Amino acid sequence: MAHPSAPPPRICPACDGFAYVAVTLGGRDARGCLRTITAHCPACQGTGTARTRRNREGARA
Ligand SMILES: [Zn+2]
Repeated sequence: MAHPSAPPPRICPACDGFAYVAVTLGGRDARGCLRTITAHCPACQGTGTARTRRNREGARA
């Protein structure tokens, strides 16, 4: 049995693959640029993929 492709990496269930977002703070700085901060997903540390842990919470079945 041939496997045509490797399984895709697991997408982080917390952020659904969108690991970080830019949040506008409102207003602009002195140069006219929009002021933003970057918030990353705490579950996947901004990678967008879920880590495979052996002892996941609630996954003892
Ligand atoms: Zn995530």
